[in-house]
Amino acid sequence: MPKRIRDTTIAPCPCCGGESCLWGASGGKVGDMTYWVSCQVCFLSTDVFGSESEAAASWNRRATGGVEPNAPQQAQPATGTQQA
Ligand SMILES: [Zn+2]
Repeated sequence: MPKRIRDTTIAPCPCCGGESCLWGASGGKVGDMTYWVSCQVCFLSTDVFGSESEAAASWNRRATGGVEPNAPQQAQPATGTQQA
């Protein structure tokens, strides 16, 4: 089960402005964790990374610097439809 990690500063969702949070889950090996950030509203998410800081940095780049070339493949972010 992924667990929610809240001890890292992450920007709001660049897509919908919703609450985003950092997640961590154990990988295939003992002690091998993967981390990613996803939006709680539209489920936009980053790739998975080997550290919390990398995942947060990737998310914050997207949130503050525009869309990255590799768009998320899971879910279907509601691009273009921003509802208050
Ligand atoms: Zn969102």
